[in-house]
Amino acid sequence: MTLQQKTADLLIHPDWIVPVLPHGIVLENYSIALSGDRISALLPRAEAESIDAREVLELPGQALLPGLINCHGHAAMSLFRGYADDQSLMPWLEQHIWPAEQVHVSEQFVGDGTELAIAEMIRSGTTTFSDMYFFPDICAATAQRLGMRCQITFPIFDFPTAWGLDGDDYIRKGLALRDDLKHSTLITVVFGPHAPYTVCESNLVKIATLAAELDAPVQIHLHETSEEVLQASDQNGERPLDMLHRLGLLSPRIQCVHMTDLRDEDIALLAATGAHVVHCPQSNMKLASGACSVSTLRKAGVNVALGTDSAASNNDLNMFGEMQTAALLAKLHTSDASSLPAADALAMATINGARALGLEDTIGSLEVGKQADLIAVDLRGPETQPLYHPISQLVYACNGSQVTHSWIGGESVMTQRNLTRIDLQALTTRVSSWQHRISHTASQTQ
Ligand SMILES: [Zn+2]
Repeated sequence: MTLQQKTADLLIHPDWIVPVLPHGIVLENYSIALSGDRISALLPRAEAESIDAREVLELPGQALLPGLINCHGHAAMSLFRGYADDQSLMPWLEQHIWPAEQVHVSEQFVGDGTELAIAEMIRSGTTTFSDMYFFPDICAATAQRLGMRCQITFPIFDFPTAWGLDGDDYIRKGLALRDDLKHSTLITVVFGPHAPYTVCESNLVKIATLAAELDAPVQIHLHETSEEVLQASDQNGERPLDMLHRLGLLSPRIQCVHMTDLRDEDIALLAATGAHVVHCPQSNMKLASGACSVSTLRKAGVNVALGTDSAASNNDLNMFGEMQTAALLAKLHTSDASSLPAADALAMATINGARALGLEDTIGSLEVGKQADLIAVDLRGPETQPLYHPISQLVYACNGSQVTHSWIGGESVMTQRNLTRIDLQALTTRVSSWQHRISHTASQTQ
């Protein structure tokens, strides 16, 4: 934390800095300097006064922390927010979401839905998201245009959809996109086989081979419900996690999303192979899918990150809400109020997410040399007063609307809650038009 240079583009003086690493610490009367796209200094305010900065920002009563990392979602599905609630996973998918997607999903749908999702995510403190959806090229272009960091997990199914024909076609298109974006500083492109029940063994083997060759991450929905695991066990005599292990997919490159059905052997296998788990507590609760054993996984040494899943099954993309839910659910699930303390929940939403995405050297904490992805949170409001422990307020009392500023790669994407790259009024008009079209189709098919 020593001063490396005497000039900076931006020098920020908040009341608190929560760097996430080292774990659980809060720095008072510290300042942070940004130069280009990176954090160039983190030091006591008294020493920071000597930095010659192009711009100085005073943030009294505010905490600075790393931007939150949403490790799983389907951004464009924000256009289906509130479209079909109060259903369990398979009826929700088969009777509502998949038919609606068949009618509406297009490049324009993905562009507008992704922009809506990014606007919501930035306003609630997220600076990196992972996305698995059709037309990933459009999602990538939208994220790039809006200055948002993103892991694109290009979708892979065995069957045709609006974006591809079969396993080979999805993989070919996805790898072409990966090649197109190989120089992007904001976007990474990785494999996104949808689930073991929608991608056959031979395609999973191809993905395992290619991911190992390219050293590329793989994200997959896995053990989302007990029914899914039971059905696979009945059909194949094998649990999906065991099948992925047999096919060579379990490694530090894999991000297993959901994992609500876990035996002790599963947890040991995840720990031994270095697989990551992405916990989506609100989506799991809303679809009554089950609860991931986060505390046991963490004790076993498994890296657990956090995701919202889509706004159609959450119904928001607010990582503050997700941190709070994860912490509360862990306590209820274990009957132990000490499970998943606030600092651990914050780590899951930041550095653990960076580790899961293979970006721990780049983002996830406030450290000199890392990308300047950070947010400012105003703790002066009645909702967060009095203030004994800033991390406690961030996890248990903030709702995302206290985020005032956000920078991604050193660039301001929100200042005083105003989005710098998104015209919210124009976006709202386009979203209203989608609402009209989607509700019209729903009423015709009922
Ligand atoms: Zn999902």
